[in-house]
Amino acid sequence: MGRALKVAVVGSGPAGAFCAEILADEAGQDVSIDVFERLPTPFGLVRYGVAPDHQKIKSIVGSLGEIFESPKVRFLGNVTVGSDVTVEELRAHYDAVVLAVGAPLDRPLGVEGEGLRGVIAARNFVSWYSGHPDATFDTSLLAADRAVVVGVGNVALDVARMLVRTPDELRRTDVPAHVIEALAGHRVREICVVGRRGPEFAKFTNKELLELAEVEGADVIVDPAELVLSEERQAYVAGRPPVKRLLATLQKIADRKPQGRSRSIRFLFDRTPVGFVGESSVGVMRLARTSDPTIVEDLGAGLVLPAVGYRSVQITGAPFDDGIGRIPHRDSRVTDGDEVVDGLYVVGWVKRGPSGVIGTNRLCASETAAAVLADAAALRAPEGGAGPIDDLLESRGVRVVDWSRWRAIETAERELGAACGRERVKLYDRAEMLVAAGIA
Ligand SMILES: Cc1cc2nc3c(=O)[nH]c(=O)nc-3n(C[C@H](O)[C@H](O)[C@H](O)COP(=O)(O)OP(=O)(O)OC[C@H]3O[C@@H](n4cnc5c(N)ncnc54)[C@H](O)[C@@H]3O)c2cc1C
Repeated sequence: MGRALKVAVVGSGPAGAFCAEILADEAGQDVSIDVFERLPTPFGLVRYGVAPDHQKIKSIVGSLGEIFESPKVRFLGNVTVGSDVTVEELRAHYDAVVLAVGAPLDRPLGVEGEGLRGVIAARNFVSWYSGHPDATFDTSLLAADRAVVVGVGNVALDVARMLVRTPDELRRTDVPAHVIEALAGHRVREICVVGRRGPEFAKFTNKELLELAEVEGADVIVDPAELVLSEERQAYVAGRPPVKRLLATLQKIADRKPQGRSRSIRFLFDRTPVGFVGESSVGVMRLARTSDPTIVEDLGAGLVLPAVGYRSVQITGAPFDDGIGRIPHRDSRVTDGDEVVDGLYVVGWVKRGPSGVIGTNRLCASETAAAVLADAAALRAPEGGAGPIDDLLESRGVRVVDWSRWRAIETAERELGAACGRERVKLYDRAEMLVAAGIA
């Protein structure tokens, strides 16, 4: 066919990055891949979701970064697809467009009073402590005596753990200074982690629970009564070794004597949130026993952080299934009704839904890349597409953060860290990032 296959990937999280890597590896020399990212920074939730005290997991940015060093792959940060450039325009410029835009919205609890001040999706809190440039979190809410984290997945444990990290522990991370200041001095004394079902259905991993059990900054408390299971439930556990291990860890925590630390984290299972009560701010969270809804209890709380899952958001110009909150597809090819949309693909959380670890996106990306490559011959328009996208972006005044500019942001973050005896401190203000990138 005589010219390289041109692919646009929208989103530079793990799914988009892995997809670019696999396409670069498997399409031979004849491929060029542009990865568009709405933020000036790459890596999606690896930078803005994975907890800052999990630097080992975060170190995957080293290998994700290598993908963008390839001469076949370009990073175009600070470009929002849907407003700076449309999906239609990308489809005119590229043979294939892969949507890897993740799942940025929170799933609501759907209970009365959820709109009260103080009930804030855990994702907002995570984005704030991760230094996401769009994050808003009212730190005065940290004056509450008790905070409740709703949900029993790893994100819920991340949030609870970050609320009790000591200033020294926080200084070993890359979180911005204002985050350390707010987290070091906050007044929350008790953090309740609330699960709808019994402990045998908790979604967090044993590894995360063991880590939480050892935090310096709080007593972790499980009332032994929470772990009493009926025979039927015991039979359920018996056939599931990972669940058995998790329950054994919870039991060990329940058997420990609290150390009288200034903060505590308490697990409450079998509780369904049924409402929030307060004038304009939440004061009370109403919970019903899931196994017996006639038992209702009120838990005083000035901060409630629901961590019960995510949803994707529609990108203008791309089909979206509101019911499932994802882009519909057949074998990674985006569909509109019964029809496959030529040259449009999907990968990652926006394809599968918000589940799975970083590595899960690699398998997902290999399926999507395989679909692109299987279609490649038919995709390549003989006239060669509409030329480079750069002119269009420039004509619109879009200030693209390319890979070398991102490297300049990284350097600025290391310098900021060195100035205060830390390895690195994240820039969190978009304007400051652009100054560091040399394009403000
Ligand atoms: C709080 C939290 C903690 C987690 N911790 C871990 C962990 O410790 N270990 C682990 O293995 N997994 C963890 N995960 C899961 C992991 O982060 C996900 O599996 C993974 O990030 C999903 O990849 P993705 O590329 O689909 O989405 P994302 O990582 O969300 O990437 C999507 C990217 O698309 C960009 N984008 C969105 N819209 C546009 C647009 N219109 N134009 C251009 N760009 C756009 C976004 O800015 C983002 O960079 C965690 C998830 C969360 C939410």
